[in-house]
Amino acid sequence: MSLTSPVHSASAPFDISERKIAYFSMEIALAKTLPTYSGGLGMLAGDSLRSAADTGVSLVAVSLVHRRGYFEQHLDASGQQTESDVVWSPETTLPSVGKTISIVMQGREIKLCAWRFDVLGVTGHIIPVFLLDADVEGNDPWDRRLTDHLYGGDTYYRLCQEAILGLGGIHLLHALGCQPEVCHMNEGHAALLTIGLLEARLAPAGLHTATDADADAVKQQCVFTTHTPVPAGHDKFGTDQMMHVLGSERASIIERFGCLHNELLNMTYLALRFSRYVNGVSMLHGQVSQQMFPEYRVHAITNGVHAATWISQPFQELLDKEIPAWRHDNQYLRSVYGIEPEVIDATHALGKQRLFETVKQRAGVVLDPNILTLGFARRVATYKRANLLLHSLERLVEIANRIGGLQILMAGKSHPADNAGKGLIRDIFAAAARLESSKLRILYLENYDWELGEQLTNGVDVWLNTPLRPYEASGTSGMKAAMNGVPSLSVMDGWWVEGCAENITGWSIENSEDEEIQAGRLYDKLENAVVPLFADKVRWAEMRRHCIAINGTFFNTNRMLGQYVSNAYFPPSASIAASNQVVVNDEVSQTVLA
Ligand SMILES: *Cc1c(COP(=O)(O)O)cnc(C)c1O
Repeated sequence: MSLTSPVHSASAPFDISERKIAYFSMEIALAKTLPTYSGGLGMLAGDSLRSAADTGVSLVAVSLVHRRGYFEQHLDASGQQTESDVVWSPETTLPSVGKTISIVMQGREIKLCAWRFDVLGVTGHIIPVFLLDADVEGNDPWDRRLTDHLYGGDTYYRLCQEAILGLGGIHLLHALGCQPEVCHMNEGHAALLTIGLLEARLAPAGLHTATDADADAVKQQCVFTTHTPVPAGHDKFGTDQMMHVLGSERASIIERFGCLHNELLNMTYLALRFSRYVNGVSMLHGQVSQQMFPEYRVHAITNGVHAATWISQPFQELLDKEIPAWRHDNQYLRSVYGIEPEVIDATHALGKQRLFETVKQRAGVVLDPNILTLGFARRVATYKRANLLLHSLERLVEIANRIGGLQILMAGKSHPADNAGKGLIRDIFAAAARLESSKLRILYLENYDWELGEQLTNGVDVWLNTPLRPYEASGTSGMKAAMNGVPSLSVMDGWWVEGCAENITGWSIENSEDEEIQAGRLYDKLENAVVPLFADKVRWAEMRRHCIAINGTFFNTNRMLGQYVSNAYFPPSASIAASNQVVVNDEVSQTVLA
């Protein structure tokens, strides 16, 4: 197994006990070959850690090992999706941390070991990632499978996984001598770490002795990032399950501190209750989340992507030659204005060529590099509306015929249990099959993952994004495209509200909930704005440069992580930290006002 990040021995020469921040995430994309992520959330986590390594942040991370991973997607000729597990063996891939801890859940003890993945930064700084593993001898046979499947199983299985991540994660860090000053919950999955912190603080007296001061002390340690304005995206569990998995002592503490919501254990509300800083992942998503949770102050830190992970090889070589400082400080990408547009264009063409070779290998189809090529790839969630572009095939065929051809590359996995999502993929296959003899070509590529995501975002001409506003909290694939000089054509949602400069970094599609109207606006923009500009080679090349100079310098995880450090982890003044509590906590608001 070849890993993109080098793996170091567990005895690397630095002291884990000095690390100040612990980052918890249910999924983290660590290496192309490791199936420990499903989509954007895991990519963001991985990119955040890669930036933490590059910029020397004092951080460790915790996740689960996911021995059977997130699945590999297979599509038959009709677009019917089937799945197979991606089995990997941490034993033969990563060093063990050499410690086994145990927690009590489901009324019995479960032992947890952990594997260590080191993320290595440009200057040698290491971010250790601990992957918890329940497959330990002596555990109940059912418990041994609890860290196998990412987002598999039922809600009971999921709650057990979240208990392992949150409670097990805190206990593991403490056992390793790490007492983080700040714990960051990347989405609500990790919210039980708050109970883990409380437990550790009150041992051996026990959780039942917790006072408001104890709860506040935990709160002062925690930071929470919420990632979705879709209510179904927030984990909820019945109180029976809570009692059974967590036990009555933890359950009664959760109740006593007011963390139940509508009589359910809602991980978002648990995280909100115990965090001193809460944020959404774009300015718009911050506002939407603020409306969803009016009793808490919700800030916003806009997502980014890790530049060196997503910029294509040809562009990396060009940048290393022209602007070598870009690797440790992405703001130098602004100097791309010193490179001739034709050079940028020629560099992009190399990525396009590589993508088309992949398409030829995978689908047996030869595409034409001179034809306008659109890309659309993401998790198949209904709000992302993968089929909007195909709403009126006749109109699309008309445009394609008029301009001498149009190529559309699509990809995306549907969650195995999401039948509506699977139906959407079959619909796209059916539409593509009807096009046999036209100038329009639509290809849906199998098994969207890191590798394919990289090739698609840097190889197409325009990145398309058509979510139902405001459900795309941020979106990051368009940022990957921008770093490679690829403009976006997108509904004004998530990051694009901040990233769109019309005709300069891409194009906006005015939002509508009516699919007919929305699709019409998409076709109008494509026909009247994108197509004419694509015909003007000089202006198009200039646009590529704007994408890198304007959006590449901002929508990267180096900038994002810097904002987390200075606004969330270590705010410079008490007033910023306290502003989170003005609404909920009278004591603090009085101090601020005093
Ligand atoms: C970047 C990426 C995502 C997230 O893309 P969005 O635009 O946020 O939907 C999902 N999956 C893969 C493989 C990615 O590379």
